[in-house]
Amino acid sequence: MIIVMSPGATEQQIDAVVRKIAEYGCEANVSRGVERTIIGAIGDERAINQELIDAMAGVEQSMHIVKPYKIVAREWHKENTVIDISGVPLGGKTVQIISGPCSVETQVQMDTAARFVKESGCRLMRGGAFKPRTSPYSFQGKGVEGLEMFRRAADAQGLPIVTELMDVRMLDTFLEWNVDVIQIGTRNMQNFDLLKEVGKVNKPVILKRGMSATISEWLMAAEYIAAGGNHNIIFCERGIRTFETAYRNVLDVTAIPVLKKETHLPVIIDPSHAGGKAWMVPALARAAVAAGADGLLVEMHPTPCEAWCDADQALSPDELNQLMTELGGIARVIGRDI
Ligand code: PEP
Ligand code: MN
Repeated sequence: MIIVMSPGATEQQIDAVVRKIAEYGCEANVSRGVERTIIGAIGDERAINQELIDAMAGVEQSMHIVKPYKIVAREWHKENTVIDISGVPLGGKTVQIISGPCSVETQVQMDTAARFVKESGCRLMRGGAFKPRTSPYSFQGKGVEGLEMFRRAADAQGLPIVTELMDVRMLDTFLEWNVDVIQIGTRNMQNFDLLKEVGKVNKPVILKRGMSATISEWLMAAEYIAAGGNHNIIFCERGIRTFETAYRNVLDVTAIPVLKKETHLPVIIDPSHAGGKAWMVPALARAAVAAGADGLLVEMHPTPCEAWCDADQALSPDELNQLMTELGGIARVIGRDI
C-alpha cells in the first residue's frame, strides 16, 4: 500500500502512520520529498485496514497496489481456465454458443427448442424456470415444474442446461435436477448470501454483470463465489445501463479485453438482453466473438412472436442457424472455432 501524506504533515503524524503499519505486520518505507512524504507499506497489505489509515491525521490518501481479488485474478493464475460443463469445455479454443428460450413455457415448446438448439450446432441450452420480472404481475416462470420440463427436453438431445437461481432456498432443488450451470442474474450480482452459497457447490456458475456494476465490483462478486471453494465461474456481460434509451442496454464490448486481462476465467456475452431486439442480436454477437468472447448466451424461441417473455429479442431457429454460420467465419479468422 502507498500512503501519501498531506503537504503539512508533521513528523509525529508520519511516525504514527509508520507505527500503525508495523502493527499490521508490514514494514514502512518512508520517502521524503520537497512537498510531501510518501510511505510505502511492504508486506501483506491485505492485513491493513485502509479506512483506518485514511482517517489518521496528516494522511491525504492511500492506495492498495495489490488487487483486492485474488483467486479470480490473472495475476495469480496466468493460464486461461477452461471450465468443464458436463463434458463441454468453455474457455478454450472453441467458442460455445448457449441458446434457448428466455423462459420455460411448456413441454412441447422446450422439446422443440431443444431440437433446434441441437440442430444449430450449439452444445449448451438456456432457459429460465424462475424469472426475475420487473413487475410482480408478469409471468414469474414455471418454477420447479419448469426445471423438470427443461431437464427432460435437454436430456433427449444430450444438452447440458443453464438456468437462473434467484432464491438460495432453491439450491438443493437445482442440484436434485442436476442443473449443469447455475446462472446468477444481473439483479443478483451482489446478493452476497446467494454468491456464498453457490460458492460451496461444485457446479459451474455464470455470473451476469449487474446493470450498473463496475468491472471491479463484478470481479469482487466472483471472488465471493471463488472464496467458498467453487472456482468454476463464467463472467457474462449482458449490457449495462447508461443514458441511452434507443436500445435496452449498452453492450460493453470493452469489458471483454479488460476482463480477459484481469481474470483467467471465461468471459461470455449475452447479446439478447443487451440489444433487446432480435434484429440487433447478430451484429452484437459477431462483435463479441471478434472481441474475444469465449461464448454467447443467445435467446432463441421456436416461434418468437408467441414467447411468454422477451418475445422481441428472441431469434427464430432459422436466424440462429444463420448466426452460427457467420460466427463460424469470425471464429476462424481469430484462430478459434464454434
Ligand atoms: C436471463 O438471462 O434470463 C436474464 C433474466 O438476464 P439478466 O439477468 O441479464 O437480465
Ligand atoms: Mn430474457
